[in-house]
Amino acid sequence: MFFKPKTLTQADIEKALNAVLHPVKGQSLIALKMVSGIVIKEGTVTFVVDMQDGDADLMARLREVSEKAVKSLKGVTAARAVFTSSNKQATPAHKPHGKIAMETKHLGKIVAVLSGKGGVGKSTTAANLACALAQKGLRVGLLDADVYGPSVPRLFGLTEKPETKDKKLVPLEKYGLKIMSIGFMVDEETPVIWRGAMVQTALKQMINDVAWGELDTLVIDMPPGTGDAQLTLAQNVPMAGAVIVSTPQDLALIDARKAIAMFRRVEVPILGVIENMSTFICPACGTTSDIFGHGGARHEAEKMGEAFLGEIPLTMLLRETSDAGTPLTAIEPTDAISICYKQVADKVWERLNEKSTQRRAAPRITVEE
Ligand code: ADP
Repeated sequence: MFFKPKTLTQADIEKALNAVLHPVKGQSLIALKMVSGIVIKEGTVTFVVDMQDGDADLMARLREVSEKAVKSLKGVTAARAVFTSSNKQATPAHKPHGKIAMETKHLGKIVAVLSGKGGVGKSTTAANLACALAQKGLRVGLLDADVYGPSVPRLFGLTEKPETKDKKLVPLEKYGLKIMSIGFMVDEETPVIWRGAMVQTALKQMINDVAWGELDTLVIDMPPGTGDAQLTLAQNVPMAGAVIVSTPQDLALIDARKAIAMFRRVEVPILGVIENMSTFICPACGTTSDIFGHGGARHEAEKMGEAFLGEIPLTMLLRETSDAGTPLTAIEPTDAISICYKQVADKVWERLNEKSTQRRAAPRITVEE
């Protein structure tokens, strides 16, 4: 007769964490209702600990004991606590000067890829842009910061989980890129509800607690939109520049305009605008047709005094390779579309190098939407 190993449940994790006492308050983390978002994925357990106050020493201590308590459970191979601070005063999220201490020099030039709204191809662009930058011989990292819908694991066909070494998560490597995504840690089927402060802390950990090594550039696939999460990230991570992805449709362009305005406000240099899903090229006959219009993003960029970085056609091949987990630029670098990305990457790198010298320039004129 065989004994089926008991499946780990949320209650098991809560029980383990019930034994972890808050050293100041003297009660357990569970009794203090500090634990939420427990996710069990095979042997990896991720949980969120909400600290009211952002005391760094206390946080470090609690991390050690809580992760140890969970790790000691049978069947747990890795435990990871994500710390958040729900107290607004302790999280200077909206104050541009209240930056979180972050050592980012080894990450090289940090580039944010953003869009005013979802579904315009932001992640596809970030993935192919990162591949094209790596093909230039640069050391490139790709951070999927789209906590609401991480798509980098799917785009790169990555299902394994990162290992922990010397208390740091080791990014996964594929096509010459170092890749990290919140999607590696959380269960795709379990919706994770993020509050603003949680997003901030999770992202901070994905920058600080990941063994990125020495990079020339880190491409960040940002959460779509222009809400608090995006603003906070832009304020707290020293970004060298932002790339805006838009389709040529009017509605997308209005949102792209908002994204430009937001990044201008936080004084992150805009490297330029990319028009995605531009002209459609029929795979059967090669005829081109402008399904979503054409040239709108170039026009919008010009109107706002920003650079235009290039256009990526709407093609079946790009969608198929993205869904197959094999970015087109990585597997077919000589394809016409890969060459479009290469040209965009060249411009981005060129602009990054000129813009970085202007980082401390006077604030630009803010355009309110
Ligand atoms: P976002 O990150 O803006 O939500 P995605 O990058 O996930 O958008 O793209 C949304 C969908 O559109 C995906 O199925 C992707 O494969 C497809 N897609 C993106 N850009 C193109 C393109 N230029 N041609 C064809 N399909 C595209």
